[in-house]
Amino acid sequence: RVGVLGSLNADLTVTTRTLPGPGETVVGDPLVVRPGGKSANQAVACALAGADTLMVGAVGDDAHGEMLRESLTRAGVDISGVRSAQVATGTAVITVDHRGENTIVVSAGANGTLGADDVHDAADALRAVSVLGLCLEVSDPALLAAQRLVNSAGGTTVLNVSPLREVSAELVADAQVLIVNEHELAAVVGSDPGREPADIAAALDGHGIGRAVVTLGAQGSVAVEAGLVVSVPAFPVQAIDTTGAGDAFMGTLMAAIAAEVPLGEGAALASAFAAVAVTRRGAQASYPGQPELQEFLAR
Ligand code: ADP
Repeated sequence: RVGVLGSLNADLTVTTRTLPGPGETVVGDPLVVRPGGKSANQAVACALAGADTLMVGAVGDDAHGEMLRESLTRAGVDISGVRSAQVATGTAVITVDHRGENTIVVSAGANGTLGADDVHDAADALRAVSVLGLCLEVSDPALLAAQRLVNSAGGTTVLNVSPLREVSAELVADAQVLIVNEHELAAVVGSDPGREPADIAAALDGHGIGRAVVTLGAQGSVAVEAGLVVSVPAFPVQAIDTTGAGDAFMGTLMAAIAAEVPLGEGAALASAFAAVAVTRRGAQASYPGQPELQEFLAR
């Protein structure tokens, strides 16, 4: 079983001709409201990829919270670890212009209430997971408590160092698997090693990181495990919206880790899942079910 502890957000998107500057008002298309939040996205992808998945997090007692519970449940995620908070559900307010440039304001809302107490409340359930997925949209105390618990219970902790922010060094050092894009990799290792698999592997090794996947957008990804470096191509697709691509990838990869599939093979599956996801708008709303994924792989 896979546990995902972290954020759930409503993504509120308005498309405009041009992005508004300070003090400016612009007219936009009708508002689109979709389920998002990095951890919720990862949990949905993980369940759709076939893993028994538990979500631990918090939403407000409002329509956005209801939408998120529904989206997770529809994908087969166990939401018994999602509690109600007395503040609004986390929200991402997104404007996108006709060229695809965007601005995003994230309001943590209920996600900001997640703390070590929540890990304590969910301790029995978390001790039972074989894989725990974490990202940086909730506070360090919650992340550290969950990571310590699952590490000491013998589970595998997977940290997505995203969205980039100052973070406890212990969290990064004690994660058993790191998932980073190229910017996050540069921040973790303190310099940009570029895209050559050997250089990426050397940079990770120099920081004592033995198990990691570095995603390179349309260039694919590089998986490093037990001294083995695997370069995984992306699938050539017509990308419409890459929102949640990294989360789709991470969720699928966690399902593969739980099934004891080697990291390189897991990354290949994750690459297919994420490729389908970028051909549609939205995060969770763009993720494929098994029949569609199998059809894509067989084409
Ligand atoms: P993030 O969104 O976290 O920055 P990336 O952009 O690196 O993550 O994307 C994660 C993965 O999603 C990539 O490794 C790749 O497999 C897949 N992906 C992303 N963009 C595309 C694309 N344009 N075409 C095909 N696959 C993509």
